[in-house]
Amino acid sequence: MQGEAYYLCESCGEEIVVPVDLSAGMEQEYIEDCPVCCHPNVIHVHIEDDGAVRIWATGE
Ligand SMILES: [Zn+2]
Repeated sequence: MQGEAYYLCESCGEEIVVPVDLSAGMEQEYIEDCPVCCHPNVIHVHIEDDGAVRIWATGE
């Protein structure tokens, strides 16, 4: 199962769309470099019981 969500880059504020692997767990965290400004963001993914995806970024 895969979904799509977007987060706001901590550094430049761009909306970054990322694929979300729903089978990877209800709570996920990984670091991704912003494709716009190359700033590393820590991406937090939280999948609700009903399958809704919440995703947000924090600075490293
Ligand atoms: Zn950025």
